[in-house]
Amino acid sequence: MTEKVLVVEDSPSFLKHVTQQLTLNGFEVIAASSYEDARQLLASDQCFLCSVLDYCLPDALNGEIIDLALEKTLRVVVLSATFREEYRDRLIQKGILDYILKDSPTWTNDLLSILRRLINNRNHHALIVDDSQLVRNHLSQLLEHQYIRTCVAEDGFIAIEKLNQNKDISFVITDHDMPNMDGLTLIREIRKIKDRNALPVIGLSGNEERTLTAQFIKAGANDFLYKPFNQEELYCRINCLLGIKEANDRLYKMANEDELTGLWNRRYFFHKANNKANTDYYIAMIDIDRFKLVNDTYGHDCGDKVIQTIANILKIYFESSCVVRFGGEEFCILYEGDFLSLNEALEAIRKKISSMKIRYMNNQIATSISIGSTRYTGTLDEKLKIADQQLYAAKQQGRNRLIHD
Ligand code: GH3
Ligand code: MG
Ligand code: MG
Repeated sequence: MTEKVLVVEDSPSFLKHVTQQLTLNGFEVIAASSYEDARQLLASDQCFLCSVLDYCLPDALNGEIIDLALEKTLRVVVLSATFREEYRDRLIQKGILDYILKDSPTWTNDLLSILRRLINNRNHHALIVDDSQLVRNHLSQLLEHQYIRTCVAEDGFIAIEKLNQNKDISFVITDHDMPNMDGLTLIREIRKIKDRNALPVIGLSGNEERTLTAQFIKAGANDFLYKPFNQEELYCRINCLLGIKEANDRLYKMANEDELTGLWNRRYFFHKANNKANTDYYIAMIDIDRFKLVNDTYGHDCGDKVIQTIANILKIYFESSCVVRFGGEEFCILYEGDFLSLNEALEAIRKKISSMKIRYMNNQIATSISIGSTRYTGTLDEKLKIADQQLYAAKQQGRNRLIHD
């Protein structure tokens, strides 16, 4: 989806430049060159990711455009030709996201990084933990203004419950002094299961104790702020934290996922299986039948489409299992349930695949899979070897079948 950005700027050359830069980077610019133009545009109920506003317009010399945009609940970035400390404080107080100086050599990059941050923020969900409702509300408002979804907890115990209920929570902001479980204890509990990269935590406290920063960071917090905090500083720290988290998430994906199918890769599989007791899971090996023929007949891209389609079916049927692309056209499932259910699901998938056609360009490709599964409870290597032997037997007996022990 192309995101719309409202740009209000009276200098034609500057407007042209902003429009060019934003358009080049995939945004749709809706431009206005005066307060009156902008007022009319805003009456039309369009949905903007953000507005970029010139502080001083010929028909609104004192930042009136900012009040208008905030009134319409727009996110506001202010462009200003001059820097004045008192302006800045006043604008931040009003609730703008940020301000950019027009003569700064990095203003385009600064603006683009604010806009990209807003888009990425939609994928984040913050848990705010504080016993004061006032603080919880204030923080929620600040984060939601940056498109970050929020949920709240009054103490550490409730926070842990919320984390268990909402697996998509991507970072936590926690107070220290709270009844039942304080912030430091909460962070230590969180760190038993999730490290700093997987779930960043910012500590926050009104306590006068100056050693709290070190205590929080040693307990596993990524960052710490004293209350009352400065809003701009909070935003900077959150942006920095989320930037690092997203980079870490990308690295994790690259290291553990298969690019073509989005399934787990071998590296992830061995890591996961080696951390389990041998009795906890079963193994199934799946291989596409006569796949070389698909490549030879319809081309490699079509072969890729077949691999992707089968991977998607496996993902749907084994939503809560570890489904792995083991090699070219070979998949593996690490299943933590009963053996009968595993085989029933495998049989259903086999039937589904052999009765469907995969569409690619003008072709309809028929395909099938062979499967070997084992209930053997020995080591991982032994399980893999036996599942592979069952798969080999399935191929030998004519393909398109499941063989298990
Ligand atoms: P069988 O029924 O015995 O499994 O026969 P098969 O043709 O499926 O097995 P074979 O091992 O002879 O061929 C597998 C082919 O899969 C060979 C290889 O070029 C192709 N392949 C491996 N990885 C990919 C991939 O990522 N994309 C595509 N399109 N082809 C791949
Ligand atoms: Mg408190
Ligand atoms: Mg094959």
